[in-house]
Amino acid sequence: MFNLILFGPPGSGKGTQSEKLISKYHLKHLSTGDLLRSEISNKTQLGLEAKRYMDKGSLVPDAVVIGMINDALDNNHDADGFLFDGFPRTAVQAEELDRLLSQKKTCIDVMLALKVSEEELVKRLIKRGETSGRSDDTNEQIIRARIEEYHKKTATVADHYQKENKVVMVKGEGGVDEIFDRLSKEIDRLKKLHNC
Ligand code: ADP
Repeated sequence: MFNLILFGPPGSGKGTQSEKLISKYHLKHLSTGDLLRSEISNKTQLGLEAKRYMDKGSLVPDAVVIGMINDALDNNHDADGFLFDGFPRTAVQAEELDRLLSQKKTCIDVMLALKVSEEELVKRLIKRGETSGRSDDTNEQIIRARIEEYHKKTATVADHYQKENKVVMVKGEGGVDEIFDRLSKEIDRLKKLHNC
């Protein structure tokens, strides 16, 4: 198995790069943002609860997203590996992910962290809001709140994996294919090491 976390603030390009990476490396894409939006559009109880947080730009409670990831891991036990996108976003989520993966006799091989300046992030998110239909992308105040949540609660998740020397920083500015090449180069190098 090869399991990777694609990490970075909102607007850093995780979604775009994930699509390309899962097809190149045959990974199962687990995006908590996508899973939550699908719960919302199906009007489930979980979706209704999550929406209250997402509309404010706050994080959804840990127990909710951990439950979703647990189900997704159970439903995909034949996968060659997972690409986690938007998860883990808190220290508690990171610890729980490690525990769930170790139960399955595997682990996180690498966290690839996309680095993008704050002004570029806001610019990208506002632009995405023009076409994505995502209400959390159209209001600059909500965008700033999400970036603040990232600094307050999520940035520390990198420290968790840094302790195990699993973090690789990648420049997230430039063309989509250029960034994809940078990420691919790291994955090709790391796949040979068989960490997990
Ligand atoms: P972005 O990274 O661009 O903000 P996402 O689609 O990853 O977009 O997330 C959208 C929203 O979904 C977040 O602002 C948050 O409210 C919620 N969310 C997604 N993943 C998580 C998570 N792992 N923990 C808590 N909340 C989450």
